[in-house]
Amino acid sequence: MNYDQVFGDLITYMQGHKRLKNWVPSLELLLKQKLYEKPHGDMQRWIDALDNLPAINPETTHINSSRVGANASIDATTQEQLYDALVKLRPWRKGPFELFNTHIDTEWRSDWKWDRVSPHISPLANKNVLDVGCGSGYHCWRMLGEGANRVIGIDPSYLFLMQFNAIKKYCGRDAPIHLLPIKMEDVHPQLEHFDTVFSMGVLYHRKSPIDHLYELKGALKPGGELVLETLVVEGELGYSLMPEDRYAMMRNVWYLPSVPTLELWLRRAGFTDIKCVDLDQTSLDEQRATEWMDFQSLADFLDPTNPNLTVEGYPAPLRATLVASKPK
Ligand code: SAH
Repeated sequence: MNYDQVFGDLITYMQGHKRLKNWVPSLELLLKQKLYEKPHGDMQRWIDALDNLPAINPETTHINSSRVGANASIDATTQEQLYDALVKLRPWRKGPFELFNTHIDTEWRSDWKWDRVSPHISPLANKNVLDVGCGSGYHCWRMLGEGANRVIGIDPSYLFLMQFNAIKKYCGRDAPIHLLPIKMEDVHPQLEHFDTVFSMGVLYHRKSPIDHLYELKGALKPGGELVLETLVVEGELGYSLMPEDRYAMMRNVWYLPSVPTLELWLRRAGFTDIKCVDLDQTSLDEQRATEWMDFQSLADFLDPTNPNLTVEGYPAPLRATLVASKPK
């Protein structure tokens, strides 16, 4: 993978911004270490798949519709080449995407999450946005589609970086949208650069959720907005569930607070104007196995006799979206 081709634009942009500039030396060291010293075992296979994506000039791109993608009329051989390369980047979890009539029907209908979240947030036009735990970058495109000035997604999964690059090749090679394969813990502290920071589907993966909230606050400008989406449970102020081991078959789930508890965590971390704007139990239509993600999915993680319980006997996944401000 060509480092400069993938990260060059972003590094140049960062050099021009006071606070981001200070982060560049340690970020470059980390990226190079991850890519060259400890490459993922499947990396070469993924790079080959990316190299095999056919060159196509899109006639149209659609980054603000539910199927993010690009279109043009292409011949059957090119269509086949495209499909074969995209299939090699499976499993596709977050989407949907549609490239030249190939519909990548991902495990998640991430567009449904966007439809629940986007009506409740400050307009993204001209904003600098950070999407923490962005997956393949599906929501980053939707944010750009709403007029954001620049969107940076971070996600430690290399497969997601490869999928993001496949989409970027067709939807906007030079567009102000980037994915860094790092964790939030690796982001330079107190950047205070972003107008809006999203953390969706990440908090319950953190052993120290309060540290995560502080890190998110550090990335925001004073007066900026946090959009936090995470798994919650029903319960009083102060209640939070810690699974004994797995939760809905996931190994790395730590804290599932009640909404009042989560609001308290946000207050204690120094956020204001805290509002829970959406509460939604994940449906079997929103997360399911497809041709593009043919492993087990939500239906296999729930009690077959009671869809309101996980296989472990915990309440089934209930997701809350909260918005909050960093004080000015
Ligand atoms: N935000 C997307 C994807 C959620 S899945 C959505 O809401 O649909 C959770 C993602 O968080 C995974 O892709 C995982 O790789 C990433 N993740 C897990 N721990 C993280 C961390 N510490 N920092 C940043 N991303 C993390």
